[in-house]
Amino acid sequence: MPQKLMVVIPCYHEEEVLGETSRRLLLKMQSLMEKGLCSTESRVLLVDDGSKDRTWEIIQRLHQENPLFEGLKLSRNRGHQNALLAGLMTARKHCDFTISMDADLQDDMDAMDRFIEEYQQGCDVVYGVRNKRDSDTFFKRQTALGFYRLMKALGVDITFNHADYRLMSRRALDGLAQFHEVNLFLRGLAPLVGFRSGYVYYDRNERFAGESKYPLKKMLAFAVDGITSFSVKPLRLITMLGFVIFMISLVMLLYTLVSFIVGHTVTGWTSTLASIWMIGGIQLLSLGVIGEYIGKIYHESKRRPRFIIDTYANAEDAPPVKDE
Ligand code: UDP
Ligand code: MG
Repeated sequence: MPQKLMVVIPCYHEEEVLGETSRRLLLKMQSLMEKGLCSTESRVLLVDDGSKDRTWEIIQRLHQENPLFEGLKLSRNRGHQNALLAGLMTARKHCDFTISMDADLQDDMDAMDRFIEEYQQGCDVVYGVRNKRDSDTFFKRQTALGFYRLMKALGVDITFNHADYRLMSRRALDGLAQFHEVNLFLRGLAPLVGFRSGYVYYDRNERFAGESKYPLKKMLAFAVDGITSFSVKPLRLITMLGFVIFMISLVMLLYTLVSFIVGHTVTGWTSTLASIWMIGGIQLLSLGVIGEYIGKIYHESKRRPRFIIDTYANAEDAPPVKDE
């Protein structure tokens, strides 16, 4: 028996692409249903992440024209990860498995067939992995590579070149629901959920229309979030650095005492100044890193909701789910 699929798509200011995206999705869903890869009850859940343009109107219209499309409107802009989580947590109550992807048609829809084949063979999580990054700028490619390497060095288990194009079974989503962190980095959480996982390789295209909603500033914040949410190694490095500097200071102490006894006390302006600046810099940097973690604790301890749902437009008009 084919199972019910829900494709979850976060949308923020996507009025330019939604028309084409929905047109292609409709064809894709029909073909999946015909092949028996998903049930005829399957749906596409478009999550409007508090857009100020016509995104929600378009979603509503799509829903009225065809019940295949459902809409979920968040009360305000909460960012890609939260919007995706809101969609997944809503979908898990209504389907057997989900596939998450971006609205901009960068992820190749034809890979979905292979996702579902992996699922049918018993995988609870299937990661979509990009073959190559030709469509990205040189800068984005290099920074992404650097980020993955850094994550790996810090001991975080993430899949190289996997963004958020991913299949998750209801079991895996129920697992994900048990992670209550406010600092969300879903691609890092999925491996922590566990279960059998598979990989599907695909080519990533260019954004169909509109601009990237991830400018450099957001990208950096996302990277810092990813690291500090999954690794305390930076804190350990600071401890090690402190230890090394302490060792050096012992040598310096010896050196200054000997200099004092020998009578060379006037010289040393350069070394004094250099060490003040260096130690000062290292201390500030270390405090900053520690502060990052304290900031995280601060956010987590408040346990604010990660998303609030305004409207859920679906066929049965079920009440919206809460963020538990
Ligand atoms: N997005 C969102 N909320 C935001 C920013 C982005 O829901 O605050 C959505 C956006 O509509 C898209 C996906 O997240 O479907 C990925 O964004 P984008 O394609 O701009 O990122 P990029 O591919 O450039 O990394
Ligand atoms: Mg994109």
